[in-house]
Amino acid sequence: MNKLGMGFPSEIDGLMSKAEWGECLEYTKAKTKLSRVEEWISYLIFVAILLVLIPWYYTGWPHGSNLAPWAAACFGSIFLISLQIPELFFDWFRQFELEEKFGFNKSTKILWVIDKIKGAFIGLLILVLIISLLDWLYRSLQQSFPFTWWIMAFLSFFVLQLVLMIIWPKFILPLFNKLTPLEDGELKVRLMRLAEKSGFQAQSIEVVDGSKRSSHSNAYFTGFGKFRRIVLYDTLIEQMNMDQIEAVLAHEIGHYRLGHIPKRLVVAFFSGLAGFWIISYLCSSEWLYDGLKVPLENMGSLSPLIVFFSLFAGPFVFWMSPVNNYFSRKHEFQADEFAALTMGTGKHLGSALRQLYRENKNFPLPHPWFSFFHHSHPSLFERENALKKVTFSSQV
Ligand SMILES: [Zn+2]
Repeated sequence: MNKLGMGFPSEIDGLMSKAEWGECLEYTKAKTKLSRVEEWISYLIFVAILLVLIPWYYTGWPHGSNLAPWAAACFGSIFLISLQIPELFFDWFRQFELEEKFGFNKSTKILWVIDKIKGAFIGLLILVLIISLLDWLYRSLQQSFPFTWWIMAFLSFFVLQLVLMIIWPKFILPLFNKLTPLEDGELKVRLMRLAEKSGFQAQSIEVVDGSKRSSHSNAYFTGFGKFRRIVLYDTLIEQMNMDQIEAVLAHEIGHYRLGHIPKRLVVAFFSGLAGFWIISYLCSSEWLYDGLKVPLENMGSLSPLIVFFSLFAGPFVFWMSPVNNYFSRKHEFQADEFAALTMGTGKHLGSALRQLYRENKNFPLPHPWFSFFHHSHPSLFERENALKKVTFSSQV
């Protein structure tokens, strides 16, 4: 038994060495401890926001319909962005103490500061854009369409979200990372052949310089339709052999071919619609403003309500996470199966997953209830077991 009270379980044999397992336990424990502290501090901050900050901010300054929609949006967005400040301390600690200690940090302090400034600026810009659009629609439509204005507002919001999804990889991601097409060579030939075989018309496969900030590895899929692209971390290419990378790509293509992205968009559509229905109810609910000790003149603009809603929706959405995670895990199993069928074996994906766990010091034995509530991905052994059950009678 090591000092963390966990021996060397037989499942870990072959996945990690005894020393790696010890580090994995320590890393998991350190991450969990930091999250606990962060959670408790954020609860305290939430209470302070509710009791002190909101009444102060929305009483002492010009507000409501006294401000033009864009000005009300700036006012609300600045408030929301400044509430992120306490998180910066945890971020800094996570990057330069915790990740550093376990050898994952590759970022410099200057790069971290620049990232945060850029992030805050872009966040502010997007928030101002969204809030001013919604506030403007509210003020222009609410009188003539008291029962349906929120549907029109939601549809505009949804379209704006789609536009942001499209421009994100093309215009915003490059502000933080360098994306380069995968260079010519055997790997590219194999991956392009795989893409063709599995029915994915790849425009290009991009490599992102994740190694600039961290040695954690990953691969993901962004955009949709004509704008889809597959992004591989340079760290992934470094840490895996070609069979493993091919299996990871086959998994990502699986998400695309099985329609997981449109399915998620449909869910986002209906949950967004429900959110706007709640907003439409709250915007005329004086009890909410009275309860928050916010003067009723604020009801002339939608901006304050959007701020309150985005602050309070979190604790409710949290309880929905098992449902979201249930579907996400189901999609992961399906994409794994697709990858195994495409490659004719589940062996390479299995070994790629093992490699990811080892390199990222991921804890492979989460408690089933914890996993059920919090994890968007099944655990390594669940995925391996499912891969073993794939039947190869029908080829994709
Ligand atoms: Zn996946």
